[in-house]
Amino acid sequence: MNIELINTGSELMLGRVLNTHQQWLCRRLADLGYVVTRQVAVADAGHDIKQATREALVRADLVITTGGLGPTSDDITRDLIAQLLGKKLYEDPTIVQHIEQFFTARKRPMPASTRVQAMVPEGAIVLANPNGTAPGLAMKVEDGKWKPGNCDPISPFSTLNSQPSTYPKWLIMLPGPPRELRPMFNDAVVPLLHRVLPIESEYVCRTLRTVGIGESQVADKIGGPLRAALAQGLDLGFCAHIGAVDVRLAAHGPQATQIVRAAEAVVREQVGPNIFAEDDDTLEAVVVRLLAARKQTLALAESCTGGAIAHRLTNVPGASAVLLASLVTYANETKQTFLDVASATLTAHGAVSEAVAREMAEGACRKTGADFALSVTGIAGPGGGSEAKPVGTVFIGLASPDETIVLKQFNPFDRETFKNVTGTQALECLRQQLVRRA
Ligand code: ATP
Ligand code: MG
Repeated sequence: MNIELINTGSELMLGRVLNTHQQWLCRRLADLGYVVTRQVAVADAGHDIKQATREALVRADLVITTGGLGPTSDDITRDLIAQLLGKKLYEDPTIVQHIEQFFTARKRPMPASTRVQAMVPEGAIVLANPNGTAPGLAMKVEDGKWKPGNCDPISPFSTLNSQPSTYPKWLIMLPGPPRELRPMFNDAVVPLLHRVLPIESEYVCRTLRTVGIGESQVADKIGGPLRAALAQGLDLGFCAHIGAVDVRLAAHGPQATQIVRAAEAVVREQVGPNIFAEDDDTLEAVVVRLLAARKQTLALAESCTGGAIAHRLTNVPGASAVLLASLVTYANETKQTFLDVASATLTAHGAVSEAVAREMAEGACRKTGADFALSVTGIAGPGGGSEAKPVGTVFIGLASPDETIVLKQFNPFDRETFKNVTGTQALECLRQQLVRRA
């Protein structure tokens, strides 16, 4: 099946907005077994949108557009596509009612311009938008309707349309704002795809997320043992993130479940202790769950990460049950005042030291009454390094009910990456401890 994605928006071409739809939609579709074959972004210009849609319709069985369904003058996708497909637009009273209710609920007058969002091309399926005013639209495209007269010649080098398709052709228009597009895709588009463009064979995809081990190391460890599964059709992929590596196992066909299940067992055998989560789960969510299950609490004493670990943990729903406090003590004085770090320790070892990381973690536990405390103190750079403690040096302390451990790490990256990697190492240190104590 050929699937093409067209992201519209001049802000994308000007670099003002990151095209997160490209990644999010490709990822969601791939996980469902629908792999996107081509993706383009174009400005909010009539010619560009039309041209891109026309070209995509020649090749693709499914075309998804994003953006340009709103009420402003640059929102032209709906009109252009209706024009291209030779469809008349009519006003859908149910959508008008939805828009009116949307504004009434917010105690705001409904601007007349918003009514344009209730215009629907003949024959289109309306995809509800509970988070905004512009609904999405899905249309079955009858072959040939959009071609006459206005079709530009297709490159003779195009390989994507070399096979005549056996699928019906569909075009789906989604709104630009991510908080509208994502729920609409999950709630309305996924069931529609399963109904009108079902994947002909079973598809299973599983991602195992690892931390504390490099991409090539993971590949080396699992490559050999997975040979049999690869021969049976396992699709193996790696995705390296900052401080973590995802291993993606996928397979098509009637044997898909068995192949993926057997491959997962192999990966767990080889790198089990490094696997912190599956699919879209995060390290911080795992840590919150482990603590919550044990009814235990955590405090943080952050220096060089500036609250980044607390930020990650507080993104997890339910973090309040486990996180008591995060003390961002950047200066020596505040390490003394808020965490009881001894002035003698600071003088003897310096703020970035094993001894200070230990006292920070223990101080955070004592001050807050938490069961565990993580501390971080390091040199993010670019200045402040020395021969003994180069930029990137960081100490991570973990105080537990019966012991305190301190890890020394070396993360010589830009400041943001440094914070991210250090945060991951700290959370992983705690996760390992919690798993060991289980
Ligand atoms: P609206 O009703 O808000 O005008 P719309 O369907 O017309 O919605 P656009 O005007 O194209 O959509 O985009 C609205 C906002 O959505 C943009 O300002 C941008 O912040 C965000 N957005 C649009 N396209 C993308 C994209 N590809 N990736 C991430 N964000 C996007
Ligand atoms: Mg808009």
